[in-house]
Amino acid sequence: MTLDPPAGIRTITDPRDMAGYLQGVRGECAQSPFVVMPTTTKEVADCVRHLAAHNMPFVAQSANTGLVGASVPDATGHQAVLSLSKLRDVFDLDLANRSLRVSAGFRLSEINARLSQHGLFFPIDLGSDPMIGGMVATNTGGGRFVRYGDVRRNVLGLTVVLKSSDAEILHLGSAVRKNNTGPDWKQNYIGTSGWFGVVTQAIINLEPVVQEQAAAIVVPSNDAAMLRLLQHLETRVGSLLSAFEFMSRAAMSHAFAHAPALSNPFAGGDIPQTAVLVELSRATTGAPWDTPLDEVLQSVLAEAWELQGAPIQDALFGRPEEIWALRHALSEGVKSAGPLIAFDLGFTRDKVIAFRGAMAPRLAAKFPHIEICDFGHLGDGGLHFNLVKTDGPNTPAFETELRDFVVAAAVQEFGGSYSAEHGIGPKNIKYFRQFTEMSPQTRRAQALKFQE
Ligand SMILES: Cc1cc2nc3c(=O)[nH]c(=O)nc-3n(C[C@H](O)[C@H](O)[C@H](O)COP(=O)(O)OP(=O)(O)OC[C@H]3O[C@@H](n4cnc5c(N)ncnc54)[C@H](O)[C@@H]3O)c2cc1C
Repeated sequence: MTLDPPAGIRTITDPRDMAGYLQGVRGECAQSPFVVMPTTTKEVADCVRHLAAHNMPFVAQSANTGLVGASVPDATGHQAVLSLSKLRDVFDLDLANRSLRVSAGFRLSEINARLSQHGLFFPIDLGSDPMIGGMVATNTGGGRFVRYGDVRRNVLGLTVVLKSSDAEILHLGSAVRKNNTGPDWKQNYIGTSGWFGVVTQAIINLEPVVQEQAAAIVVPSNDAAMLRLLQHLETRVGSLLSAFEFMSRAAMSHAFAHAPALSNPFAGGDIPQTAVLVELSRATTGAPWDTPLDEVLQSVLAEAWELQGAPIQDALFGRPEEIWALRHALSEGVKSAGPLIAFDLGFTRDKVIAFRGAMAPRLAAKFPHIEICDFGHLGDGGLHFNLVKTDGPNTPAFETELRDFVVAAAVQEFGGSYSAEHGIGPKNIKYFRQFTEMSPQTRRAQALKFQE
């Protein structure tokens, strides 16, 4: 298929210049006739109309940090790339309302850098640097969900170009936080991987910048104790708790091996089976009513020691940046360990622990050359269940069998989600079809089955 790109809009056609837009984070590599880079909402609509008129499929792409292969073109070589990276015409800060109307092509780091002089930030925290459009499309979660929630909780309004032949522009929601005059249509475009439209602007909620933090790495006495510790912290410090991230020994070992500059805080370098990053933070400091957070953290963890069955074995206090450096090094460390088959799972919090406990022996028995290098956000039930193949080739047939096995257990046995915060793409579309998008026939067959 040959099609001229839309006239008057910046386009790349040279394969060397396109390369960065065609390569995904997890090694996906594709071809495309061109990358088109609109700079305004109107230009996005012009592009969508032009592509629709010529029946040309396209993929919307922001920072291309997505982990399910959905931000790069498919294998046909016919999909255009609609890059939102030049869509940066709007940055309207409303200080009184603590909100920002921003074009989809701004990166999270740039938004926060510009906001810092006003003492504000967009409270989604993660180890990559996405753009706002991609964050809306995937409904990014991140490490501080337990305090601030996900992108969905922080989006007030959206501007969207519909993926239809007339490329209608919709303005959904507004900076008004309290508004119940009808359905909240913007939700159709949050966490739906760009299927229904291209996000061109968002109005987002901002939070006061954190002024004080305290962090520790806690060694739980066993996996079930993690949940008791979490409940204890939530009860005792309430919304001061801003992160509760667990890390398996295998994931931490690979992070230390991959990043030798990381300091290993454990006594004698002996990495425990599981460790939890606990963070307390707040947007005020030094007020007469503020006990220093280091003291709060130490005393609340000391209390946990006294609880029945002592959920804590050890607690290591340190500078929050150093502690977070370990957490943020896990993804790259695991990726460097060997062929990686990664799952982005979501459960109720108790089921995270049950799932991990059940899967370790099952995987060892059925897939002996697999190492579980998992970590996750226990506060919100997110589990990055990373499996590294330690021996033999990672053939497509092996990967499919392993994926089917893990996802079936997660969804059918533990009532979980196969896409917690990374969206839907080639890596998990099969399970979308199997578990989410059931045909009416399948639904009817299932209903009959349950009646039997
Ligand atoms: C090291 C690392 C750590 C990560 N940690 C986390 C984490 O803790 N939590 C988390 O949730 N994710 C995490 N991610 C995944 C990823 O960064 C997020 O999913 C991110 O929000 C994707 O944004 P992006 O701008 O890169 O979007 P892209 O990767 O470009 O696109 C992602 C999806 O959104 C669609 N899309 C992009 N822009 C638009 C638009 N304007 N309108 C409509 N659809 C669009 C794409 O078609 C694709 O389906 C991590 C990734 C890496 C590499």
